Amino acid sequence: MNQPIKNIVIVGGGTAGWIVASRLAAKHQAQPQSDITITLIESDSVKPVGVGEGTWPSMRNTLKNMGISEAEFMRECDATFKQGSKFTGWVTGEKSDSYYHPFVLPQDYANSNLFHHWQEIGQASSFSNAVCFQEQLCEHGLAPKQITTPEYASVANYGYHLNAGKFAALLQKHCIAKFSVKHIIDDVIKVNSAVNADIASVSTKNNGDICGDLFIDCSGFACLLLGEHYKVPFLNKQDTLFVDTALAIQFPYETENSPIATVTQSTAMPAGWIWDIGLINRRGVGHVYSSRHTKNSDAEAELSKYLNVNLDKTEIKKISLNAGHRSHSWEKNCVAIGLSAGFLEPLEASSLVQVELSAEWLCDQLPATRSTMDIISKRFNDAFTYRWARIIDFLKLHYVLSKRTDNDFWIENRQPDSIPDSLQESLALWQHHYPWHNDFDRSNEIFASASYQYILAGMGFRTQSNYLSSNIENELAMKNFTLNQEMTTKYLRHLPKHRALINQIRQQGFHSTNTN
Ligand SMILES: Cc1cc2nc3c(=O)[nH]c(=O)nc-3n(C[C@H](O)[C@H](O)[C@H](O)COP(=O)(O)OP(=O)(O)OC[C@H]3O[C@@H](n4cnc5c(N)ncnc54)[C@H](O)[C@@H]3O)c2cc1C
Repeated sequence: MNQPIKNIVIVGGGTAGWIVASRLAAKHQAQPQSDITITLIESDSVKPVGVGEGTWPSMRNTLKNMGISEAEFMRECDATFKQGSKFTGWVTGEKSDSYYHPFVLPQDYANSNLFHHWQEIGQASSFSNAVCFQEQLCEHGLAPKQITTPEYASVANYGYHLNAGKFAALLQKHCIAKFSVKHIIDDVIKVNSAVNADIASVSTKNNGDICGDLFIDCSGFACLLLGEHYKVPFLNKQDTLFVDTALAIQFPYETENSPIATVTQSTAMPAGWIWDIGLINRRGVGHVYSSRHTKNSDAEAELSKYLNVNLDKTEIKKISLNAGHRSHSWEKNCVAIGLSAGFLEPLEASSLVQVELSAEWLCDQLPATRSTMDIISKRFNDAFTYRWARIIDFLKLHYVLSKRTDNDFWIENRQPDSIPDSLQESLALWQHHYPWHNDFDRSNEIFASASYQYILAGMGFRTQSNYLSSNIENELAMKNFTLNQEMTTKYLRHLPKHRALINQIRQQGFHSTNTN
């Protein structure tokens, strides 16, 4: 039990496998005297899922901690800046129906609950425009920083849109060139147990048995180690989150100078929604829908109508989704990260951020010995059980607040038996109490109360509180509304167009490479 953990084996070379390998290598193989070995095995015959093009701002720290330059990342992965999501048609489906969930927090968020004051002053402008300058940047096609802003620093908080295949390739190159990650291209065909039921090794087709102290299951939906070997139950959440199919395509811009959207555009459809993501050289567009509520041919027709083109000659990738997650991610000496741990749906890009958080956890708490691993795995499982529940609540919120009646998909989404108790409880509370810090108070909350405020306000939810705010609170709120207007004016004047900045970064890199 006191044997040190030195040999880490990662099964799977999709985005999850390479993010984990890069983070672990940068942290634990950077010193020449390190005796940690990392081996990544990936199959040549099972291709990575190859989608997953929207990230959270957390990706900036993830890349920085790997030691990758932001300009190199942007060039190699056709990456652009993502400043949040724009939801169109989610409330009523009418033409004017849209709202933003930006990445910038409401003004002075630590001290002032502007959701409350915005309701009290009569809502002259949308919540996101009243409390945050970012919607205006997006509407004007502006970048979240300047060429002189240091790498990974921001004027407005941002994540990325990226080409998932190129991203995995960049991380692979980085792991092998900069660190000593061993890369084996082979199929894992068997999992071999030790006497204590740990995994002792995995057998491969052509490279024999690969032994390890810690096994990381990044084998995607196959979930070879945690699912197939350990039989850890899969908790199906399709009764809550109905979409079960995705049709994904790559779509060209009209011209090479077409503007690039700087938000993920999420447009509601009769039985699901369409994502639209702008990379430098193409858009990634996909229709996610519930096959219980629409036919594949109708879903394809909706996609074609959205893009205003005939898709007969376009390659459409069809992906089956099964919303849910494993009951726990860490069993014995095996932890599942990425799609093997679970997947709900692409709304709000909650998957890669969980991979990042898992990798971060492993970096900080790589078990020193087998005996400490059980303590760490218990805490890891507690944290991720909590996270899955919070993500499910947040995604479901988008459907619950809709007033659409054009398809049973939307009507059934509002049935109480499809809504988790925890979300029903929060909504009951927010009828009378404004959502605020105490609602979600763990470190590294993926969707904190600010995210809830943007969705609740954007979708027309209003709190009826009996409590009046104090004069001090009112004065602070008014100051913050004014400050936000001033910042909006200032940034609209000074920030460059999104495509212009991306082109400049690709040609010259950033003018300052110091990171903040
Ligand atoms: C439609 C859709 C849209 C999405 N959009 C987003 C988004 O916008 N933002 C976001 O954060 N996430 C998104 N995701 C999730 C995102 O795609 C995944 O989190 C990410 O790609 C990580 O996948 P993975 O590496 O876990 O699995 P995969 O990419 O499937 O990789 C699995 C790996 O395991 C290997 N493997 C399998 N079997 C074996 C074997 N027997 N032996 C050896 N190796 C094996 C494969 O070769 C492959 O390398 C989306 C997912 C889908 C389905």
